[in-house]
Amino acid sequence: MRIDLHAHSTASDGTSTPAELVGEAAAAGLDVLGLTDHDTTGGWAEAFAARPDGLTLVPGAELSLRWHGDTRPIGLHMLAYLFDPTDAPLTAELARVRAARETRAERMTHLLRADGIDVTWDEVRDYAGGGTVGRPHLAQALMRRGLVGSVTEAFQPQWLGARYRIPKDDIDVFEGLRLILGAGGVPVFAHPRASVRGPIVPDSLIVELAAAGLFGLEADHTDHSPREQAEMHALAERLGLVTTGSSDYHGTHKTVRLGARTTAPEVLERIVAAGRGSGVVG
Ligand code: AMP
Ligand code: ZN
Ligand code: FE
Ligand code: FE
Repeated sequence: MRIDLHAHSTASDGTSTPAELVGEAAAAGLDVLGLTDHDTTGGWAEAFAARPDGLTLVPGAELSLRWHGDTRPIGLHMLAYLFDPTDAPLTAELARVRAARETRAERMTHLLRADGIDVTWDEVRDYAGGGTVGRPHLAQALMRRGLVGSVTEAFQPQWLGARYRIPKDDIDVFEGLRLILGAGGVPVFAHPRASVRGPIVPDSLIVELAAAGLFGLEADHTDHSPREQAEMHALAERLGLVTTGSSDYHGTHKTVRLGARTTAPEVLERIVAAGRGSGVVG
Protein backbone atom coordinates (compact mmCIF):
# COMPACT_ATOMS: atom_id res chain seq x y z
CA MET A 1 0.00 0.00 0.00
CA ARG A 2 1.37 3.40 -0.98
CA ILE A 3 -0.29 6.15 1.01
CA ASP A 4 0.43 9.88 0.47
CA LEU A 5 -1.64 12.05 2.82
CA HIS A 6 -0.76 15.59 1.75
CA ALA A 7 -1.23 17.09 -1.71
CA HIS A 8 -2.42 20.39 -3.18
CA SER A 9 -4.54 21.11 -6.26
CA THR A 10 -5.60 24.29 -8.04
CA ALA A 11 -8.19 24.67 -5.26
CA SER A 12 -5.19 26.28 -3.51
CA ASP A 13 -1.60 26.64 -4.72
CA GLY A 14 -1.04 23.36 -6.55
CA THR A 15 -0.87 23.38 -10.36
CA SER A 16 -2.97 20.30 -11.15
CA THR A 17 -6.74 20.49 -11.08
CA PRO A 18 -8.34 18.09 -8.58
CA ALA A 19 -9.27 15.82 -11.50
CA GLU A 20 -5.72 15.89 -12.87
CA LEU A 21 -4.30 15.29 -9.40
CA VAL A 22 -6.23 12.07 -8.79
CA GLY A 23 -5.13 10.83 -12.22
CA GLU A 24 -1.51 11.65 -11.41
CA ALA A 25 -1.82 9.88 -8.05
CA ALA A 26 -3.02 6.68 -9.73
CA ALA A 27 -0.30 6.96 -12.39
CA ALA A 28 2.29 7.39 -9.61
CA GLY A 29 1.17 4.06 -8.19
CA LEU A 30 -0.51 5.45 -5.09
CA ASP A 31 -3.30 3.50 -3.43
CA VAL A 32 -4.39 6.35 -1.15
CA LEU A 33 -4.20 10.13 -1.59
CA GLY A 34 -4.99 12.83 0.95
CA LEU A 35 -6.33 16.01 -0.70
CA THR A 36 -5.26 18.85 1.59
CA ASP A 37 -5.64 22.23 -0.04
CA HIS A 38 -4.89 25.31 2.03
CA ASP A 39 -7.92 26.51 4.00
CA THR A 40 -10.50 25.03 1.64
CA THR A 41 -12.53 21.96 0.76
CA GLY A 42 -13.17 23.45 -2.67
CA GLY A 43 -11.43 20.60 -4.53
CA TRP A 44 -13.20 17.69 -2.85
CA ALA A 45 -16.20 17.27 -5.15
CA GLU A 46 -14.15 17.36 -8.37
CA ALA A 47 -11.60 14.92 -6.94
CA PHE A 48 -14.33 12.50 -5.82
CA ALA A 49 -16.01 12.65 -9.23
CA ALA A 50 -12.76 12.03 -11.12
CA ARG A 51 -11.35 9.39 -8.76
CA PRO A 52 -9.91 6.46 -10.72
CA ASP A 53 -10.87 2.94 -9.60
CA GLY A 54 -8.36 1.61 -7.13
CA LEU A 55 -7.49 5.00 -5.65
CA THR A 56 -8.85 5.85 -2.21
CA LEU A 57 -9.25 9.53 -1.33
CA VAL A 58 -8.88 10.90 2.18
CA PRO A 59 -10.55 14.31 2.13
CA GLY A 60 -8.84 17.00 4.14
CA ALA A 61 -7.40 20.48 4.25
CA GLU A 62 -4.25 22.22 5.50
CA LEU A 63 -5.19 24.98 7.91
CA SER A 64 -3.19 28.17 8.41
CA LEU A 65 -2.74 28.48 12.17
CA ARG A 66 -0.65 30.68 14.40
CA TRP A 67 0.91 30.22 17.79
CA HIS A 68 1.15 33.49 19.65
CA GLY A 69 4.51 32.48 20.97
CA ASP A 70 6.84 33.49 23.74
CA THR A 71 8.34 36.41 21.87
CA ARG A 72 6.71 36.57 18.44
CA PRO A 73 3.89 34.81 16.57
CA ILE A 74 4.84 31.69 14.63
CA GLY A 75 2.73 30.38 11.76
CA LEU A 76 2.09 26.67 11.49
CA HIS A 77 0.17 24.34 9.22
CA MET A 78 -2.30 21.82 10.56
CA LEU A 79 -3.56 19.02 8.35
CA ALA A 80 -7.16 18.11 9.10
CA TYR A 81 -8.66 14.90 7.77
CA LEU A 82 -12.19 13.54 7.52
CA PHE A 83 -13.96 16.53 9.05
CA ASP A 84 -17.51 17.56 8.20
CA PRO A 85 -17.16 20.04 5.29
CA THR A 86 -20.49 21.63 6.25
CA ASP A 87 -19.59 22.29 9.89
CA ALA A 88 -20.65 25.91 10.40
CA PRO A 89 -17.94 27.16 12.80
CA LEU A 90 -15.13 25.61 10.77
CA THR A 91 -16.40 26.69 7.34
CA ALA A 92 -16.99 30.24 8.60
CA GLU A 93 -13.44 30.47 9.89
CA LEU A 94 -11.98 29.02 6.68
CA ALA A 95 -13.95 31.54 4.63
CA ARG A 96 -12.58 34.33 6.80
CA VAL A 97 -8.99 33.10 6.34
CA ARG A 98 -9.41 32.83 2.57
CA ALA A 99 -10.80 36.37 2.39
CA ALA A 100 -7.91 37.64 4.53
CA ARG A 101 -5.46 35.89 2.19
CA GLU A 102 -6.91 37.89 -0.71
CA THR A 103 -6.49 41.18 1.13
CA ARG A 104 -2.97 40.18 2.06
CA ALA A 105 -1.99 39.16 -1.49
CA GLU A 106 -3.43 42.42 -2.83
CA ARG A 107 -1.38 44.37 -0.29
CA MET A 108 1.71 42.42 -1.30
CA THR A 109 1.16 43.38 -4.96
CA HIS A 110 0.96 47.01 -3.80
CA LEU A 111 4.30 46.64 -1.98
CA LEU A 112 5.83 45.26 -5.18
CA ARG A 113 4.30 48.02 -7.29
CA ALA A 114 5.60 50.66 -4.89
CA ASP A 115 9.07 49.39 -5.78
CA GLY A 116 8.34 49.70 -9.49
CA ILE A 117 7.51 46.04 -10.10
CA ASP A 118 4.58 46.02 -12.47
CA VAL A 119 2.47 43.16 -11.12
CA THR A 120 -1.26 43.60 -10.68
CA TRP A 121 -3.74 42.12 -8.25
CA ASP A 122 -6.02 41.14 -11.16
CA GLU A 123 -3.22 39.07 -12.62
CA VAL A 124 -2.35 37.38 -9.33
CA ARG A 125 -6.02 36.65 -8.69
CA ASP A 126 -6.24 35.06 -12.13
CA TYR A 127 -3.34 32.75 -11.31
CA ALA A 128 -5.23 31.63 -8.21
CA GLY A 129 -8.18 30.86 -10.49
CA GLY A 130 -10.79 31.14 -7.76
CA GLY A 131 -8.86 28.92 -5.34
CA THR A 132 -7.15 29.94 -2.10
CA VAL A 133 -4.58 32.65 -2.95
CA GLY A 134 -1.00 32.20 -1.75
CA ARG A 135 2.50 33.44 -2.33
CA PRO A 136 3.08 30.86 -5.11
CA HIS A 137 0.56 32.85 -7.19
CA LEU A 138 2.55 36.05 -6.61
CA ALA A 139 5.61 34.03 -7.57
CA GLN A 140 3.95 33.27 -10.93
CA ALA A 141 3.68 36.99 -11.61
CA LEU A 142 7.36 37.52 -10.77
CA MET A 143 8.32 34.62 -13.04
CA ARG A 144 6.20 36.04 -15.86
CA ARG A 145 8.18 39.30 -15.56
CA GLY A 146 11.44 37.33 -15.74
CA LEU A 147 12.36 38.65 -12.28
CA VAL A 148 12.85 35.16 -10.85
CA GLY A 149 13.42 31.83 -12.53
CA SER A 150 11.34 29.61 -10.25
CA VAL A 151 8.83 29.61 -7.42
CA THR A 152 11.61 28.58 -5.06
CA GLU A 153 13.67 31.58 -6.10
CA ALA A 154 10.65 33.83 -5.49
CA PHE A 155 10.70 32.63 -1.87
CA GLN A 156 14.17 34.08 -1.28
CA PRO A 157 14.35 36.82 1.37
CA GLN A 158 14.67 39.66 -1.15
CA TRP A 159 11.33 38.63 -2.65
CA LEU A 160 8.34 36.89 -1.09
CA GLY A 161 10.36 35.20 1.64
CA ALA A 162 10.81 38.40 3.65
CA ARG A 163 11.05 41.71 1.74
CA TYR A 164 7.51 41.65 0.32
CA ARG A 165 6.00 39.15 2.74
CA ILE A 166 3.02 40.15 4.84
CA PRO A 167 1.92 37.71 7.56
CA LYS A 168 -1.33 35.84 7.04
CA ASP A 169 -4.33 36.41 9.26
CA ASP A 170 -4.20 32.89 10.67
CA ILE A 171 -6.37 31.06 13.21
CA ASP A 172 -5.03 30.70 16.76
CA VAL A 173 -3.56 27.21 17.00
CA PHE A 174 -5.70 26.06 19.94
CA GLU A 175 -8.83 27.51 18.36
CA GLY A 176 -7.90 25.70 15.13
CA LEU A 177 -7.60 22.38 16.97
CA ARG A 178 -10.98 22.94 18.63
CA LEU A 179 -12.58 23.72 15.26
CA ILE A 180 -11.13 20.60 13.61
CA LEU A 181 -12.12 18.33 16.50
CA GLY A 182 -15.55 19.98 16.71
CA ALA A 183 -16.11 19.13 13.04
CA GLY A 184 -15.19 15.48 13.67
CA GLY A 185 -11.77 15.85 12.04
CA VAL A 186 -8.37 14.38 12.76
CA PRO A 187 -5.57 16.96 13.26
CA VAL A 188 -2.02 16.17 12.16
CA PHE A 189 0.69 18.81 12.51
CA ALA A 190 2.20 19.38 9.02
CA HIS A 191 6.00 19.50 8.65
CA PRO A 192 6.50 20.60 12.29
CA ARG A 193 10.30 20.89 11.96
CA ALA A 194 10.47 22.61 8.57
CA SER A 195 12.92 25.30 9.63
CA VAL A 196 13.74 25.98 5.96
CA ARG A 197 10.39 27.78 5.78
CA GLY A 198 10.86 29.99 8.83
CA PRO A 199 10.74 29.80 12.60
CA ILE A 200 9.45 26.53 14.07
CA VAL A 201 7.57 25.96 17.33
CA PRO A 202 9.21 24.42 20.41
CA ASP A 203 8.50 20.85 21.49
CA SER A 204 6.76 22.25 24.57
CA LEU A 205 3.99 23.56 22.31
CA ILE A 206 3.65 20.13 20.66
CA VAL A 207 3.23 18.65 24.16
CA GLU A 208 0.41 21.15 24.81
CA LEU A 209 -1.19 20.43 21.44
CA ALA A 210 -1.12 16.70 22.16
CA ALA A 211 -2.98 17.36 25.41
CA ALA A 212 -5.51 19.44 23.43
CA GLY A 213 -6.32 16.62 21.00
CA LEU A 214 -3.59 16.63 18.35
CA PHE A 215 -3.58 13.20 16.69
CA GLY A 216 -0.30 13.04 14.81
CA LEU A 217 2.90 14.56 13.49
CA GLU A 218 3.88 14.62 9.83
CA ALA A 219 7.38 13.36 10.64
CA ASP A 220 8.40 12.28 7.16
CA HIS A 221 8.49 15.31 4.87
CA THR A 222 11.12 16.46 2.38
CA ASP A 223 11.57 19.71 4.31
CA HIS A 224 12.88 17.67 7.29
CA SER A 225 16.44 16.44 7.62
CA PRO A 226 16.93 12.79 8.66
CA ARG A 227 17.71 14.05 12.16
CA GLU A 228 14.54 16.16 12.30
CA GLN A 229 12.50 13.18 11.10
CA ALA A 230 13.99 11.04 13.85
CA GLU A 231 13.24 13.74 16.45
CA MET A 232 9.60 13.87 15.35
CA HIS A 233 9.24 10.07 15.49
CA ALA A 234 10.70 10.05 19.01
CA LEU A 235 8.48 12.89 20.21
CA ALA A 236 5.38 11.27 18.71
CA GLU A 237 6.17 8.01 20.43
CA ARG A 238 6.63 9.80 23.75
CA LEU A 239 3.30 11.63 23.37
CA GLY A 240 1.28 8.75 21.94
CA LEU A 241 0.80 10.46 18.57
CA VAL A 242 0.84 8.77 15.16
CA THR A 243 3.42 9.77 12.54
CA THR A 244 2.60 10.31 8.89
CA GLY A 245 4.71 10.75 5.77
CA SER A 246 3.63 12.65 2.69
CA SER A 247 4.88 14.49 -0.35
CA ASP A 248 3.13 17.87 0.07
CA TYR A 249 2.86 17.80 -3.71
CA HIS A 250 2.21 21.19 -5.38
CA GLY A 251 2.54 20.18 -9.06
CA THR A 252 5.08 22.35 -10.87
CA HIS A 253 5.16 24.90 -8.03
CA LYS A 254 7.58 22.56 -6.25
CA THR A 255 9.99 19.84 -7.34
CA VAL A 256 8.70 17.12 -4.98
CA ARG A 257 6.88 14.18 -6.59
CA LEU A 258 3.71 12.42 -5.44
CA GLY A 259 4.60 9.55 -3.10
CA ALA A 260 8.01 11.03 -2.21
CA ARG A 261 7.15 10.18 1.41
CA THR A 262 4.44 7.76 2.50
CA THR A 263 2.34 6.80 5.52
CA ALA A 264 2.08 3.31 7.07
CA PRO A 265 -1.24 1.45 6.53
CA GLU A 266 -1.70 1.01 10.32
CA VAL A 267 -1.52 4.77 10.77
CA LEU A 268 -4.11 5.35 8.05
CA GLU A 269 -6.38 2.84 9.80
CA ARG A 270 -6.11 4.81 13.03
CA ILE A 271 -6.83 8.10 11.28
CA VAL A 272 -9.86 6.61 9.52
CA ALA A 273 -11.13 5.15 12.81
CA ALA A 274 -10.79 8.56 14.48
CA GLY A 275 -12.46 10.61 11.71
CA ARG A 276 -16.14 11.25 12.39
CA GLY A 277 -17.05 14.13 10.08
CA SER A 278 -16.71 12.41 6.71
CA GLY A 279 -15.38 9.15 5.34
CA VAL A 280 -12.75 8.07 2.86
CA VAL A 281 -13.94 7.75 -0.73
CA GLY A 282 -13.17 4.60 -2.68
P1 AMP B 1 1.41 31.35 1.80
O1 AMP B 1 0.45 30.27 2.21
O2 AMP B 1 0.78 32.34 0.90
O3 AMP B 1 2.16 31.98 2.93
O4 AMP B 1 2.50 30.63 0.88
C1 AMP B 1 3.17 29.52 1.43
C2 AMP B 1 3.10 28.36 0.47
O5 AMP B 1 4.15 28.49 -0.45
C3 AMP B 1 3.32 27.04 1.19
O6 AMP B 1 2.18 26.26 1.13
C4 AMP B 1 4.38 26.34 0.45
O7 AMP B 1 3.88 25.21 -0.19
C5 AMP B 1 4.88 27.30 -0.56
N1 AMP B 1 6.28 27.56 -0.23
C6 AMP B 1 6.77 27.96 0.94
N2 AMP B 1 8.11 28.10 0.89
C7 AMP B 1 8.46 27.78 -0.36
C8 AMP B 1 9.69 27.72 -1.05
N3 AMP B 1 10.83 28.04 -0.45
N4 AMP B 1 9.68 27.35 -2.33
C9 AMP B 1 8.52 27.03 -2.94
N5 AMP B 1 7.33 27.07 -2.35
C10 AMP B 1 7.29 27.43 -1.08
ZN1 ZN C 1 1.13 25.45 -0.48
FE1 FE D 1 2.34 23.36 4.61
FE1 FE E 1 1.06 21.69 2.08
